[in-house]
Amino acid sequence: MVNKQEIYSLLENVCDPEVPALTVLDLGVIRDVIIEEDLITVKITPTYSGCPAMNTISANIKFELLAQGFKNVKVEEVLSPSWTTDWMSDEGKRKLKEFGIAPPQYKTKDNPLEEDAIVPCPRCDSKNTKLVSQFGSTSCKALYKCLDCLEPFDYFKCH
Ligand SMILES: [Zn+2]
Repeated sequence: MVNKQEIYSLLENVCDPEVPALTVLDLGVIRDVIIEEDLITVKITPTYSGCPAMNTISANIKFELLAQGFKNVKVEEVLSPSWTTDWMSDEGKRKLKEFGIAPPQYKTKDNPLEEDAIVPCPRCDSKNTKLVSQFGSTSCKALYKCLDCLEPFDYFKCH
């Protein structure tokens, strides 16, 4: 009999198709794993509604578990409560930055609103950055430019 923990460790092999450095666990989209006899149900919450990556993620979860010999695998979407960037693990945020994407910033006293958020450059940590476009390589990201190292970079938007 397989246990939840084993399924979770297999899910560490499933990556975000947009940011392959992140696993679905880093991303915080796995809500629950339910094991009933030979049926394994993985409940996921999409990061952004209409994010096409989610179809790939659920297909990859199925594929990974089928490849490990589980025959009856179901992936269910849980839409409520909706995903927030708070569910992303600290490890996930660190990997995002390493990948060259600025991790989500939080509303704090210094950063009261997302539109005014200071997004530090993931390459040189400069706070001298500028929003170029609300939409980066995907709708989940905004495009910024660092005014110090002059590199453009994606910012994973708060949600
Ligand atoms: Zn920079």
